[in-house]
Amino acid sequence: MSFGGPYFTLPKFKYLRPDSLEELLSSLHEHSGNAKIMSGGVGLLAFMKERLTAPEYVISISKVPELKTLQIKGGVLAVGANVHLSELESGSIKNSLPTLYRAVKNIADPTIRNMGTLVGDLAEAVPWGDAYPALISMEAEAEISKKSSSRVVPVNGLVLGLGQINVDDDEIISRALIPLRKVRGTYLKFANGSEYGLATVALTYFTEEKRFNLVIGSASETPITIRESDVDWDFDKDFGTNVEKLERYLQLNVNPVDDLLASSDFRKNVIRYLSLQAVKEVFLDERDQN
Ligand SMILES: Cc1cc2nc3c(=O)[nH]c(=O)nc-3n(C[C@H](O)[C@H](O)[C@H](O)COP(=O)(O)OP(=O)(O)OC[C@H]3O[C@@H](n4cnc5c(N)ncnc54)[C@H](O)[C@@H]3O)c2cc1C
Repeated sequence: MSFGGPYFTLPKFKYLRPDSLEELLSSLHEHSGNAKIMSGGVGLLAFMKERLTAPEYVISISKVPELKTLQIKGGVLAVGANVHLSELESGSIKNSLPTLYRAVKNIADPTIRNMGTLVGDLAEAVPWGDAYPALISMEAEAEISKKSSSRVVPVNGLVLGLGQINVDDDEIISRALIPLRKVRGTYLKFANGSEYGLATVALTYFTEEKRFNLVIGSASETPITIRESDVDWDFDKDFGTNVEKLERYLQLNVNPVDDLLASSDFRKNVIRYLSLQAVKEVFLDERDQN
């Protein structure tokens, strides 16, 4: 990944590799403001080479056992900060969390997915990242830890803009917490040969509660979320009429960015296509299979 600048060598930094979460949080507290967390390092090292960031300390989480776990507890899948994307490509994730599975499969290639982490992809906070819209559609939360305390917040709202997350310098996103409810879901991406999507759509439908979240990514600085409660569409009842409502809504309310990769109008057409495809998959095709 390059932002177009010449590719430099890495700037000088001090490398810390704590053995426990406690030690990690103490280091982060001590060097707050001068340190960056490194998970897989896929994004961080590239940004450092391009001098987009030059922290004095790089604190690796690779030896912290508490952050390596993928656990199901109390109806939630807790994905530790050092769980690699490739670990989320299993058959059980495919069945229980289809939106997540498909989003992960859409990230780069197996080499990047072996190194990069889900939490790192979220924390990187680039508008074209695939993890963030998928996690929002699934109503995931994030556990944020610092020395002697932790808090849980919705993932929605965690990314403030390009490269900016709503996490303090002495804090780390320790886990992504994804509810395990009965869902149907999909994730569709139009990339046109680029590494990143020009537009993406994450759709999760909670079948017992009969409500959905449709999240449009890569089209603005932060994703656009359409909740069933905001629009009151029932695709399961009357698919055709509600698809028309969806098209009208997108036409009137979604104004994607215009940039070097694609015009706003082009993105708008892609979003329309992906959204229709997503509701078809989730409300017609999958329903017929169940
Ligand atoms: C060739 C290429 C193609 C790519 N294609 C895609 C793609 O198609 N879709 C996509 O979504 N992404 C894509 N990426 C981005 C890639 O997936 C991310 O760079 C990677 O997942 C980041 O995870 P990481 O563990 O390596 O994070 P790192 O590189 O270690 O960290 C990334 C940033 O997040 C911060 N950070 C990391 N972990 C935490 C934490 N736990 N708490 C707080 N801050 C943290 C770091 O300080 C750093 O600023 C691509 C990257 C490359 C190089």
